[in-house]
Amino acid sequence: MEQKKTGKFDALVVGGGIAGLQSALDLADQGFRVAVVEKDASVGGKMIRLSKVFPTLDCASCITTPKMAAAAHHENITVFTYCELEQLDRTPSGGFVARIRQKSRFVDPDKCIGCRKCEYACPVYLPDPEQGGFSARKAIYVPFSNAIPPIALRDAENCILCGKCEKVCPTGAVDFFQQPEEFVVEAGTAILATGFEMTPIEDKQQYGSGRIPNVITSLQMERLLAPHGPYNRVLRPHDGKEPESIAYIQCAGSRDQSLGVTYCSRVCCMYAIKQAMLLSGSLPLADITVYYMDIRAFGKGYEQFFQNAMAMGIQFVKAKVAALNEGEDGKVKLRYESQEQGGGVCEVEHDLVVLSLGLVPGWDPQGHCAVSTASDGFIKTVLPKIAPAITDTEGIFVAGAAAAPKDIVDSIVEAGAAAMEASMYLKRTAAGRAGGEARQ
Ligand SMILES: Cc1cc2nc3c(=O)[nH]c(=O)nc-3n(C[C@H](O)[C@H](O)[C@H](O)COP(=O)(O)OP(=O)(O)OC[C@H]3O[C@@H](n4cnc5c(N)ncnc54)[C@H](O)[C@@H]3O)c2cc1C
Repeated sequence: MEQKKTGKFDALVVGGGIAGLQSALDLADQGFRVAVVEKDASVGGKMIRLSKVFPTLDCASCITTPKMAAAAHHENITVFTYCELEQLDRTPSGGFVARIRQKSRFVDPDKCIGCRKCEYACPVYLPDPEQGGFSARKAIYVPFSNAIPPIALRDAENCILCGKCEKVCPTGAVDFFQQPEEFVVEAGTAILATGFEMTPIEDKQQYGSGRIPNVITSLQMERLLAPHGPYNRVLRPHDGKEPESIAYIQCAGSRDQSLGVTYCSRVCCMYAIKQAMLLSGSLPLADITVYYMDIRAFGKGYEQFFQNAMAMGIQFVKAKVAALNEGEDGKVKLRYESQEQGGGVCEVEHDLVVLSLGLVPGWDPQGHCAVSTASDGFIKTVLPKIAPAITDTEGIFVAGAAAAPKDIVDSIVEAGAAAMEASMYLKRTAAGRAGGEARQ
């Protein structure tokens, strides 16, 4: 693999989700030069993939895109997308050296103008993970409409090498022979903002492991509800029918000893309530039921949000759902143990079932950098009460859901705290002072 040049920055931010972008902007606005390394082809993390956000019901893309653009166009920020952190080592001066792998897009990023002519010409259709797998994308494609940067990439595994993309590209950007490259970033400090992933649906055997038609995940429902979603309306993916009764199953992959995910994922109650409210707007005649163990509406305005949902007619049933099975006509059979008065085991059917899957760590630092993880697998913070951004490696800080499941408000607040810790570290270390002198 070719080793490319070295870049020198004051701070390295790993992860270009909302937390990483906020930390980068806060540092860059103070005059520090920041490198953001993002493994996906676009920055924005999970937030840019959401429909609307609780508790304000703002359009997610309307409030995330300006932050993505601000970071990408900031004179003190360099964004490296489609890049993975291989190794992060501390230097004797207290700074850091990061080895980063640029994955092949098979498209020259300096030449691509994001016109999507390659995408229109490509004859291959594949399920689009950006749309929950419900619509198709091509084998060469721009990740999504407001991706930053809007650069195409080729899916080498599924490309049939017909050459149509290369012929129509007006700038000659398609490069079938592009190789991955490695480069080095030197920085005075680092912030880990590597976020979360969902508990794998395959692990929930009693809920069909993802094989029951019309049982979908909450992230898939975000796409069905999004203004630029796959169908522009909410339809059952299995047969395109408008669902008349929809169920949410809470704690489907959190507070679950059998999966090793014993903690509460903190955002699932609120995102289920949000989705239920949005659904009752787009399908006013549908019955919506949330099966829950207890509702955790902990943030400012969240309890009122929950009360509003009940006032809108959304049903909340205190129960633990034991099993899901395929019913007739694409319905899903639900077997649950009611915890309400009278109790007992009940069986009901719904047209569509949404699993409120939990949140698990987005990245394991083991083998890549010296920071430790806590027993839940998220990055360990040594002073969680009074300094929640401090890890057990001096000079490396953590922001957002990389440290624990959290909502956007808390991710933004912690990102600011991590930027402040990083800025203070730069000011007191030799590595930071060297960077400062170089800048003058
Ligand atoms: C279905 C659902 C709905 C939600 N709805 C809401 C809502 O309405 N309101 C609300 O407040 N919160 C909501 N949330 C929570 C919200 O998504 C999180 O608070 C937020 O995304 C956390 O941001 P983050 O930047 O910490 O993590 P992420 O969004 O996960 O971003 C992390 C980024 O780091 C990148 N990354 C990971 N590892 C590496 C690596 N090794 N190298 C380089 N890059 C890496 C990832 O690709 C990703 O882009 C919802 C969550 C879910 C699952």
